[in-house]
Amino acid sequence: MDSVGEISDDLPLPPYVTKEDVVFALRAVVVHAAEQRPDGERCRKDEAPHPCRLHRWGRRVLKLRGLTDGEVQTLIAGGTVALR
Ligand SMILES: [Zn+2]
Repeated sequence: MDSVGEISDDLPLPPYVTKEDVVFALRAVVVHAAEQRPDGERCRKDEAPHPCRLHRWGRRVLKLRGLTDGEVQTLIAGGTVALR
């Protein structure tokens, strides 16, 4: 297996996710969106295989904050979600 070390490669999560973190995370998820390429999905920002490091970080921060995948999709689409 060559997936060893993948976890340590991840960006550290904030100990407490503030609303500012949510904004940053959401921006990371949106900017680092998937783009369909002949060889599969890649990040349209940094060309890394999707989901790239920043996209994963953003998703994890949003999850840590308690947002569901559906709520994240709503935010990405420009909708509003009440932050707990
Ligand atoms: Zn990226």
